[in-house]
Amino acid sequence: MRLDELTTLRVGGAAERIVEATSSEQLVDAVLEAEGSGEPWLVLGGGSNVLVADDGVEGVVVRVMTRGIERLPDAPGSARPVRLRVQAGEPWDALVAFTVENGWGGIEALSGIPGSTGAAPIQNIGAYGQEVAESIVSVEVLDVDSGERRTVPAPQLELGYRTSAIKQGWRAVVLSVDLALERSEGALGRPVAYAQLADALGVDIGQRAPLVGVRAAVLALRASKGMVLDEADPQSRSAGSFFTNPIVSDSFALGLPPDAPRWPQQPEPPALAVPLGAEPAAPPAAVEGTVKLSAAWLIERAGIARGFRLPGSGASVSTKHTLALTNASGRATAAEVAELARYIQTRVMSEFGVVLHPEPVFINQPL
Ligand SMILES: Cc1cc2nc3c(=O)[nH]c(=O)nc-3n(C[C@H](O)[C@H](O)[C@H](O)COP(=O)(O)OP(=O)(O)OC[C@H]3O[C@@H](n4cnc5c(N)ncnc54)[C@H](O)[C@@H]3O)c2cc1C
Repeated sequence: MRLDELTTLRVGGAAERIVEATSSEQLVDAVLEAEGSGEPWLVLGGGSNVLVADDGVEGVVVRVMTRGIERLPDAPGSARPVRLRVQAGEPWDALVAFTVENGWGGIEALSGIPGSTGAAPIQNIGAYGQEVAESIVSVEVLDVDSGERRTVPAPQLELGYRTSAIKQGWRAVVLSVDLALERSEGALGRPVAYAQLADALGVDIGQRAPLVGVRAAVLALRASKGMVLDEADPQSRSAGSFFTNPIVSDSFALGLPPDAPRWPQQPEPPALAVPLGAEPAAPPAAVEGTVKLSAAWLIERAGIARGFRLPGSGASVSTKHTLALTNASGRATAAEVAELARYIQTRVMSEFGVVLHPEPVFINQPL
């Protein structure tokens, strides 16, 4: 089977072998069996955050097709008392719809994100002022190196801005995700934390709005940007945002044009290595602050407009959203998508000295 049928960018060559895992036991067995025999393996959810090479992949592709949302006992006294255990293959947006229907808040602003629930922690999906990290209690994983299944509390997942320990190389397969959600009088969502969403809802930042309204507003905003999968909208034939927003030091940001959008970040406490048994000699030095920049602004100001494509290429920048690289033509290859990404990186680098990092996972495909 060709992987372009299983990815939202609709690119990618053939898989040698595909296994469809409909139970977590099958998922574990398929991965351990391949691992044990030295066969390369790839776990694939909805294929909405990957760029798979035109040559395809060697070995086995294990499709995560497990289903199930289980209501766990409430956690009385917790600000987020509603507890759910969701199997990895459960489609993410169907889960969000289910929580909104039940009046449970916490993931409503993540409406319309394609893909599976098991992939949500891989890059700590986020949108419109929410991140899934805020609602994850723990995940059950298969730790591939030890071959064991275990429950990992959220802090050990090292969830950060579009990243996690797994995205950074920990060989683990997510089997299920435990979430903690709010239950409020009037079925309200979490305080709105994103200006465009607040405007659409007619509330101030920090105010709450009904869950149903938040979901509808987010879906409408996303559709206007081609960020909801829609067969009828070729601009949605993408992997979502192709680049993360770069984070740079305060002093570097001072050198950028004054109108470059920037959002100050919480400074990370500095890392400190102290030999066992010894006391830290001095308090750690203060760290310089950092700011997050807008990748879309940098791309546009580097001269790349929406709809841009290289001559003869099937890949293009979305006409609705600067950050999405699309296969709107229906004939793009993975190599062409990567070529466009490299071109954008080079233009932004030479204009502003900023490196843009791709958000999707490249499979067998060099950048
Ligand atoms: C139109 C569009 C809009 C998008 N909008 C957003 C957005 O607003 N915010 C956002 O954060 N992302 C967004 N994305 C990106 C994408 O939808 C998310 O990253 C999603 O979580 C990927 O899920 P998936 O099941 O499709 O993962 P896949 O693409 O199938 O896999 C992605 C990576 O995760 C690994 N993986 C998948 N499942 C598992 C598992 N169970 N255990 C271990 N590893 C696994 C894969 O091996 C691969 O490395 C968007 C994508 C599209 C196409």
